[in-house]
Amino acid sequence: MIEYAGLEFKKVLVLGLAKSGVAAAELLHKLGAFVTVNDAKPFDANPEAQGLLAKGITVICGRHPEDLLDEGFELIVKNPGIPYSNPIIADAIARGLQVITEMELAYLVSEAPFIGITGSNGKTTTTTLIFEMLNAGERKPLIAGNIGTVACGVAAEATADNVIVTELSSFQLMGTLTFKPRIAILTNLYDAHLDYHGTFENYVEAKFGVTRNQTAEDYFIYNVDQEIVRNYAAKSNAQLVPFTTKGQTAEGISADATTIYWQGDAILQRSEIALPGQHNLENILCAVAASLLHGCSIEAIKQVLAHFGGVRHRTQFVREWKGRKIYNDSKATNCLATKSALAAFNHPIVLLAGGLDRGHSFEELREEMSNVKAVVAFGETGLRFIEFAKSCGITDTIRAIDVEDAVGYAAKLSAEGDIILLSPACASWDQHGSFEIRGDLFIERVMKLS
Ligand code: ADP
Repeated sequence: MIEYAGLEFKKVLVLGLAKSGVAAAELLHKLGAFVTVNDAKPFDANPEAQGLLAKGITVICGRHPEDLLDEGFELIVKNPGIPYSNPIIADAIARGLQVITEMELAYLVSEAPFIGITGSNGKTTTTTLIFEMLNAGERKPLIAGNIGTVACGVAAEATADNVIVTELSSFQLMGTLTFKPRIAILTNLYDAHLDYHGTFENYVEAKFGVTRNQTAEDYFIYNVDQEIVRNYAAKSNAQLVPFTTKGQTAEGISADATTIYWQGDAILQRSEIALPGQHNLENILCAVAASLLHGCSIEAIKQVLAHFGGVRHRTQFVREWKGRKIYNDSKATNCLATKSALAAFNHPIVLLAGGLDRGHSFEELREEMSNVKAVVAFGETGLRFIEFAKSCGITDTIRAIDVEDAVGYAAKLSAEGDIILLSPACASWDQHGSFEIRGDLFIERVMKLS
């Protein structure tokens, strides 16, 4: 850990505990800051706050006092989930205080360089692929952030031999000031999280944070097929590494129908890749480019690509049952994600879909529904999804109670050679606590098919 001295004796407020707040508070305390944490959960029911108090950190729990900022804090570390419209944050900004997320702290103390992955879709898959490739290539990667451990905890332990591979949400990026990954990746940009950012421009601006501080010794891997990303790349000071799935190019990394090229040279065949889907091809290009730039051998990369079957709940291959291949894409909580999943297969699909009703339309899926032979729908949107499927000309439809109930029907409606795919196009909160729980129940039921 770099003994960063810039926070010594500074009064810092950590807003919102959870895992990241606890790690940030502990690190700040270690760096000699005077730390106060403020969390909504009452002290008695807050073991994290109790643990921090025992270490000598000031804790204010159960409420957010109106006069909190009168304490004279010099810096605020907020949980990435807290929006900028939060009254304390808005007040802090009005007072000219710096507001950061723990990712900035991680950067300040890390001896290891960072590979930072952002984008609307594909972050987790790309992050996991890079980690696996660098691991196979003995490049000592550490994974941090959304998947894995809190970044500032990982950074405190990392040495210069390591590299920290981290997924970066727009919320995290907005709270960075000097953060500068050695390799930055922007997978794609679609309308998302507008409730938090207000406008698409604000959202894009936040994502651009991944390369904002990069300099000529760094690399920026970006989606050259998207105009909005291309325009932003032109403003980056890093060495540009464009990726495209639209045919061989001399620069960056590219793919045509059969082959992947690095700086114009063929490096691997697509037939060597286990992971299905055009969208995953984009993630693979990003991951291969980052791994090559970090000194990983092509042999190690190929070894991973031959076996990697997808991250849990993301077009994840579950099992083969009586000639049907069964996939769990429970993470597909919107139409865009389900659309990518449907486009990933060239065999007839029995689709399991439905969930929380946000009043959204399924029209976006219409074109890809031509790959679907039958639908089993469940949850709040079950009926609406069946109506939509019928309007696409699909006659085999069944309404099920929930995802587990749907598995049996899907088995009956399918034939040898088909794909059975859970890709709900809806959030899970009408029936489950999270998409992970929904996916786990699906897997459990699928494993019981005899
Ligand atoms: P994120 O971490 O950005 O949410 P994931 O890797 O978890 O992304 O993938 C979530 C879902 O998004 C997947 O199930 C898939 O349907 C879709 N997806 C993944 N990668 C891409 C991509 N490159 N382009 C479009 N959609 C994608």
